[in-house]
Amino acid sequence: MERLSISVRGIVQGVGFRPFVFGLASRLGLTGFVRNLSGSVLIEVEGRQEKLECFFHELQVHAPKLSRIDDIQRHPLPTVGETRFRIEASDPTPHDQVVISPDVATCDACCAELFDPRDRRFRYPFLNCTNCGPRLTIIEGAPYDRQRTTMAPFAMCAACLAEYNDPRDRRFHAQPDACPECGPQLRLLNPAGETLESADPLRAFVDEVLRGGIGAIKGLGGFHLVCDARDQQAVDALCARKHRDQKPFAVMLPDVAHTERYCLVSPAEQTLLNSHQRPIVLLRMLGDPTGQALASGVAPGNPYLGVMLPYTPLHHLLTHEVGGAPLVMTSGNQSDEPIARTDREAVLRLGGIAAIILTHNRPIHVRCDDSVTRVVANQELPLRRSRGYAPQPIRLPIECRRPVLAVGGQFKSTFALGSGRHAVLSHHIGDLDHFAAYRAFEIEIGLYEQLLAMQPQSIVHDMHPDYASTGYAARRAAEQRVPLLPVQHHHAHLASCMAEHGLDEQVIGVIFDGTGYGPDQAVWGGEFLVGDYAHYRRACHLRYTPLPGGAKAIQEPWRMAVAHLLDAGCDPSIVTRNSVADPVTRGQVAMVEKLVSSGFNSPPTSSVGRLFDAVAAISGMAARVSYEGQAAMQWEWLATGTPEDGSYPFELADVVDTRPLVKAIVQDLVRGTQQRVIARRFHSTLASIIVEACRRLRTQAALDAVVLSGGVFQNALLLEETCARLEQDAFRVYRHRLVPPNDGGLSLGQLAIAAKHYAAPETH
Ligand code: ZN
Ligand code: ZN
Ligand code: FE
Repeated sequence: MERLSISVRGIVQGVGFRPFVFGLASRLGLTGFVRNLSGSVLIEVEGRQEKLECFFHELQVHAPKLSRIDDIQRHPLPTVGETRFRIEASDPTPHDQVVISPDVATCDACCAELFDPRDRRFRYPFLNCTNCGPRLTIIEGAPYDRQRTTMAPFAMCAACLAEYNDPRDRRFHAQPDACPECGPQLRLLNPAGETLESADPLRAFVDEVLRGGIGAIKGLGGFHLVCDARDQQAVDALCARKHRDQKPFAVMLPDVAHTERYCLVSPAEQTLLNSHQRPIVLLRMLGDPTGQALASGVAPGNPYLGVMLPYTPLHHLLTHEVGGAPLVMTSGNQSDEPIARTDREAVLRLGGIAAIILTHNRPIHVRCDDSVTRVVANQELPLRRSRGYAPQPIRLPIECRRPVLAVGGQFKSTFALGSGRHAVLSHHIGDLDHFAAYRAFEIEIGLYEQLLAMQPQSIVHDMHPDYASTGYAARRAAEQRVPLLPVQHHHAHLASCMAEHGLDEQVIGVIFDGTGYGPDQAVWGGEFLVGDYAHYRRACHLRYTPLPGGAKAIQEPWRMAVAHLLDAGCDPSIVTRNSVADPVTRGQVAMVEKLVSSGFNSPPTSSVGRLFDAVAAISGMAARVSYEGQAAMQWEWLATGTPEDGSYPFELADVVDTRPLVKAIVQDLVRGTQQRVIARRFHSTLASIIVEACRRLRTQAALDAVVLSGGVFQNALLLEETCARLEQDAFRVYRHRLVPPNDGGLSLGQLAIAAKHYAAPETH
């Protein structure tokens, strides 16, 4: 007889790991115990040597689907001579590196029970098991146990308790386990927050929605607003009441088969749709959806539709009850404030939008928006990493020797906590210039620190002096006397892409972005950097043009158009000729000309995002937009599906001169070239600029690794063409697959830079 102590680190809590260990040990006739520590699982097993080896092997090979073993250690112990194997109570003392599991979509076994009339959980909207259910959104403290979740007030009934204690059961130690007898219940509210008595709240809700009404429904990480996606009136009303012109809505459909009525679904997209993260996946819409047309307001002018499949039992019941009708499912908020989480917030903020509110009495502790993703060249390209993904740790390429908080940027904000090899990125917080989002940012940093039992010893932030996150970092650093580490925006983008690929070497970083603070006070965003985590240099960038009116130019792309036209020596009045739907006057053009010539409130910018804006507006679309990047997105849509058709000239030295490109576009317009052809040529031109610049840097710096980051690389067409052409040219090309290329990925890059900074011997 021998005895082994085995310590397992990684995603091992809240994923059915202990029951799995129990089952495995019991099957092999081993004795001992398994115990959750914060951040790891400790196992001691005793038995014959070959059985122990078998145990150690199977532990790694057959670990539960949702678990991830990052590190496993074993050492021999003296034998004890127990008679059985047991699961021990959790050790509540905090240790380092706690791992909190993301929420997991309802598993197949639970789904089968949900629709089985003989099952005791038939149509029960809160069923779950060790393989599925809420995690992050209900957790109040670590380690993960029922009494530290929002399920604590629900005492398990005898039947549930029996399952919970039965090692052979799928619900063995499933912390949020519940049934209709003992668990949460649905409740229907009117917009004033008064309870509506109903024998079947779900049915009443569905009736309202199918009648053309708007409903609010409590989900996993917050409330959604729901309406029938085929109902133009309902969709328009939702648009108007949400104050959200032109931004597309996501749609929930019951399954892939229903999705294929509206969209093309590739095998990779199907996998993502069905994944346990259940993100919103952007899919190409079919040209002519036969008799199933969606209201045009769902995704106006957009060739893509954001689709997600049901991920809670309530969603499954809902999509079933509406007979597979496509449902708009959009975050329960007005414009960009945080998603409503409590009934109070729902009534306060959504009462004016929804006619009916379907809620329940299982509190949401952590608010969490849906994730958004797409597939580019057969690989996932995350656009928003949130519910289902956060807070799954990402492995850092460098050990983070002290606990670090990275506060990210200002827009599409996420923060991250780093310790050891773990980078824990938060869910999506939103744009911090909204006060409510900023408050959520502050509160949720506190929450994550508590959950992960982490006290940051350093705070890393963007160099931008006016970002709310920078202000937060400065205040906390002063209060708690911890060092600050400022990081340049595009250096963080570069590090973010490097980190997710585990790179630790010098690379060429192509960072095409909207805006970021440059140390020379200019607005950067079209950068070719050479560097690593420790250092970077700006090897090449797009030619500076003025940003007339500063932030105003982001909402009004025609301003950028005027700036670029003047810079290229073209007549800026072309902007007034082309914007038929949304006219720009000669007076306005003259005003911007004056701004540009005086330099007043017109900082120089190298932003590629703004170049997209300018070119789109010059060509007569999107003179004004309702959200940043809208013009660029419409420009991508136009070019998508248009065959390749040459490209425009540019000049490349230490600066990329875009003036020949702008001139050539104006000539194309004069010739009457179609917009979509211009858009396609523009994309090819950007890809050519990247390839040419990278070739130059390869010769100069003897580097062949290229990372592509920055918000512009959300553009599938540009990303795909750039990757293909760089790879043809024998570059090693790295693009985002785990975190978004936009500012949602900044916090990871900041952490990696901090890890390197504090790993360097000279800083000790
Ligand atoms: Zn399940
Ligand atoms: Zn029960
Ligand atoms: Fe950025």
